[in-house]
Amino acid sequence: MSIDPRHAAYLDALGVDVYVRRELPGRAPGSGRTTGDEPLEAAPGPAPGDTAGLDWSALRGRVAACTRCDLHSTRTQTVFGVGSPTARWMFIGEAPGAEEDRQGEPFVGRAGQLLTSMLKALGFAREDVYIANVLKCRPPGNRDPRPEEARCCRDYLERQIELVAPTLIVAIGRIAAQNLLGTDMPLAKLRGAVHALGPGRRPVLVTYHPAYLLRSPGEKRKAWQDLLFARGIFSRIERGENVLP
Ligand code: SF4
Repeated sequence: MSIDPRHAAYLDALGVDVYVRRELPGRAPGSGRTTGDEPLEAAPGPAPGDTAGLDWSALRGRVAACTRCDLHSTRTQTVFGVGSPTARWMFIGEAPGAEEDRQGEPFVGRAGQLLTSMLKALGFAREDVYIANVLKCRPPGNRDPRPEEARCCRDYLERQIELVAPTLIVAIGRIAAQNLLGTDMPLAKLRGAVHALGPGRRPVLVTYHPAYLLRSPGEKRKAWQDLLFARGIFSRIERGENVLP
């Protein structure tokens, strides 16, 4: 593929070599917002579920007032999501961190800046895509989300996905991917494949969390390969091809 000079400059800033091979991504260790690599109990089960039919405004209000799990007592504010409500691409991370909790927007800290740069390298502004998290409230100390917290928050995310109706979802990091797909498979096995989400079988791809890439800059190339893979899959969907297994 060719990359224009502006995107090449973003990639250069990321430390990503633009002359990457078009192979499927290789296998690499798992990642996430935290350093733990322990398997997460899959938590895709039924959510409390009173969001059916809510519009954006009502859903946002429901989240802002939510006290379903204990995280409501330690949050500064909920972190709903940001971006185009009709985006073709949706990016889903794990949970707000300290900066997100302070600002009320997902992916705004250092990891968020890296995600923004990677989106730019793909030719997107943040406003072109929709960005949300599995959890809408920050786990204290940035610990991993607990399965019951993910279960409680699940239908908010599901309604966001319904409302956006993206062509493609990219799960960011191991914990987001495992929660979204209801699996305990390691990230290394989830990357490089198209997964089907829910009864609608919406295509989901998986890549590294930018917080992991900040700790392991040598893996940025693989993350870039994931995004190129995602772009290729998106193009195939646009052409009407079936990309699902
Ligand atoms: S994390 Fe989700 S379920 Fe828990 S209080 Fe926040 S919005 Fe509600």
